[in-house]
Amino acid sequence: MNHMNTGLVAWRRPFNFSPGPSVLPEEVLRQAANDMLDWNGCGMGVMEMSHRSNEFISIYEQAVSDLRTLLEVPDEFHILFLQGGGIGENAIAPLNLSQAGVVDFVLTGSWSKKSRSEAGKYVHAARVAASSEPAGFTDIPSASAWRVSTDAAYVHICSNETIEGVQFPELPDLAALGSRAPLVVDCSSDIASRPLDWSRVGMVFAGAQKNLGPAGLTLVFVREELLGRALSICPSAFDYELVARHQSMYNTPPTWGIYLVGLMAQWMLRQREGHLTGVPALRARNERQASKLYAAIDASGLYENKVQPAVRSRMNVPFFLADERRETAFLDGAAQRGLLQLRGHSSVGGMRASLYNAMTDEGVDALVAYLRDFERREG
Ligand code: PMP
Repeated sequence: MNHMNTGLVAWRRPFNFSPGPSVLPEEVLRQAANDMLDWNGCGMGVMEMSHRSNEFISIYEQAVSDLRTLLEVPDEFHILFLQGGGIGENAIAPLNLSQAGVVDFVLTGSWSKKSRSEAGKYVHAARVAASSEPAGFTDIPSASAWRVSTDAAYVHICSNETIEGVQFPELPDLAALGSRAPLVVDCSSDIASRPLDWSRVGMVFAGAQKNLGPAGLTLVFVREELLGRALSICPSAFDYELVARHQSMYNTPPTWGIYLVGLMAQWMLRQREGHLTGVPALRARNERQASKLYAAIDASGLYENKVQPAVRSRMNVPFFLADERRETAFLDGAAQRGLLQLRGHSSVGGMRASLYNAMTDEGVDALVAYLRDFERREG
């Protein structure tokens, strides 16, 4: 465990495996704590500034520019800052992009399933192009077997299923499947963990509260050519075109979230692993951590992960104890070692360790050591 001195009291920072809102880098939190009272010597805290002030506009512009650099977002994509989270986008995306027609969904877990049922309220047909539900969401249906509708307004996937721990190894190429429909991707739980192939994408959305910052801010990356299609019932605050034309300030945006995402983008740009920097460095670090954790789970007789190895999530690692009556003892022992928020989602049970960008090697090493100790003691 790492020890820190705030200057006032010595405190210990635990290793936080929360699925979101989740751990943020200590240096980012310290900077934010400072700027909360007085940003850049202007005398005002970030939360006290008008979103129309020069100070905040400069924060906004820097955040957009750093995100564009970090994620290599091409010029034809707008970067929008909205509210409503991933669940909000499940309605906002069809309101903007479906033209009330047909939308295809690839079901790979709880989140893509939820997206489909919400879209059903606004579209003529929310179809299932493929589903791994019969396999208990432990796999991803091969793209060559997807039944993409010829009239689909778009095809929706969730790149990383946070609950089941299933992740697309790469984004599908719809054009290669003979479809001209734009791909819509819920990247809430793996944005900025690996490079994104923008050529395959029409729109990407992500809640900020995992890899990018605090809850309350939703990022939308949308192609210019997809603007202007919103249904007339779409709330103005969520009309992508209106929001894009007003630089995300048609309504008052979540200013603190935008500021923090900007700080996080700068932190991510500074990350290094060997000769790599930015997102490729974060990917290398995360792959190392996830491989170590999966190897420990697979080597044990007490813990199990049921997901097909090729599609295992590197962000969220669910695992189950052979005897679920030991879960409380496991979680209590973990907490005593400063390993926090390891309980799995209530819908599936078990455990889940989330390895977002601010997770350290030290944290994963501590978890792996604990897995071994607990098994030796109780296994
Ligand atoms: N999609 C995914 C992949 C998620 O992980 C989550 C939240 N865990 C959501 C959507 C819903 O996000 P929110 O709670 O911000 O609405």
